[in-house]
Amino acid sequence: MRSELISVGTELLLGNIINTNTAFLSEELAKLGIDVYFHVTVGDNRERLTSTLRTAMERSDLVITTGGLGPTSDDITKETIAEVAGRKLVLHRDEFRKLEAFFNKSGRKMTPNNIKQAYLPEGSLVVPNDNGTAPGAIVELNGTTIIMLPGPPVEMKPMFLEKIVPYLRERSKQALVSVTLRFFGIGESALEHALYDLIKGQTEPTIATYAGDGEVKVRLTARSDAGGEVPPSITDMMEKIKERLGRYIYSYNDRPLHEVTAELLLKSGKTLAVAESCTGGKLSAFITSVPGISKAYMGAVISYSNQMKQKFLGVTDQTLEKFGAVSEETALQMAEGVRRACDADIGLAVTGIAGPDGGTEQKPVGLVYIALSSGGHTEVRELMFSGNREKVRTYAAKNALNLLRMYLVGDIASIDKKS
Ligand code: ATP
Repeated sequence: MRSELISVGTELLLGNIINTNTAFLSEELAKLGIDVYFHVTVGDNRERLTSTLRTAMERSDLVITTGGLGPTSDDITKETIAEVAGRKLVLHRDEFRKLEAFFNKSGRKMTPNNIKQAYLPEGSLVVPNDNGTAPGAIVELNGTTIIMLPGPPVEMKPMFLEKIVPYLRERSKQALVSVTLRFFGIGESALEHALYDLIKGQTEPTIATYAGDGEVKVRLTARSDAGGEVPPSITDMMEKIKERLGRYIYSYNDRPLHEVTAELLLKSGKTLAVAESCTGGKLSAFITSVPGISKAYMGAVISYSNQMKQKFLGVTDQTLEKFGAVSEETALQMAEGVRRACDADIGLAVTGIAGPDGGTEQKPVGLVYIALSSGGHTEVRELMFSGNREKVRTYAAKNALNLLRMYLVGDIASIDKKS
């Protein structure tokens, strides 16, 4: 099924608001295995919306509009769709009653333009709005399905997930099942290269790769018989991918790195303490976002200054003077220091130069050391990231999590010493 998204709103064209609706809908449609071929943004202008709709109906099986369903005169989506379809706008009694009840309850007077929200193109399926006053609608037109959704994301997202997804699933008769594999330690291009023949020859399942925040995901989507069981075509493909890239896969069910790592930590029965410099608490934030982690997580020392590194972690003068705060030696002493200070089984530490200032030729911005100490055993890794401060900090925190994960699965030796 070819689909197209039309965002209606002059504010979008002016750059006053960011079009988050298309990003959300595209991602959700991909999960359903529905291809999105076009994103179009059009202002609150009847003529241009008309031609946009005509083009969309010619080339797409499914058209989803967002915005322009409200009460004001610049909300023209339903009116224009009705006109293009040659249908009248008819008052929908239930929606009208709901509007009346809403205004009675809120003690406000319903102005005549509000009634406009209860008018829908004749023959539409009404999609109630549980989070606002303007209902959505679905209309079938010469082989194209047009779904109208409200603009505000707080209204659009639940309406899509709760009402439109079941509608689309029902229509596609067979359920589409997706499985998402998550990778760490490999870039998108290296991953695509390794899977090139599979991606090129893809039919069932389809293979889609996504990259972001230092990770890569692969989503496999295929049709499944009733019950939504993962079909053999997906499990076979998972095996093929595992054979080639298994060492980078940390999740076969789309669970994020911090959750997977936290679960391993809880299972191990070990306790963890963290020392953070350039990440300033980001690593702890990842860890503490997992419910139940208090059984294993002792806490963190955010040792941004050298004084903190010395006073709370026991990093020595000599180490700081000879090697500097961003060095293998300091990272190791931080990991050991925090483990001892917090009486934990494992100490994990991060120190680096997040930038934009503070880099030198020997120690450029993006240089990060991560270290792990577990009693008799220590590990340290040098990493080099490009990008802005936020990116360096996020990548550093995630790599530290990954070092811990690899330690917990007993495979730490497979992480390269330098990256
Ligand atoms: P309302 O009933 O609130 O008028 P509506 O369906 O008429 O809803 P619009 O008036 O077009 O929607 O947009 C209302 C608000 O929704 C916008 O001011 C904006 O904050 C948000 N919005 C609209 N479209 C988008 C979009 N594509 N992405 C993100 N936010 C959006």
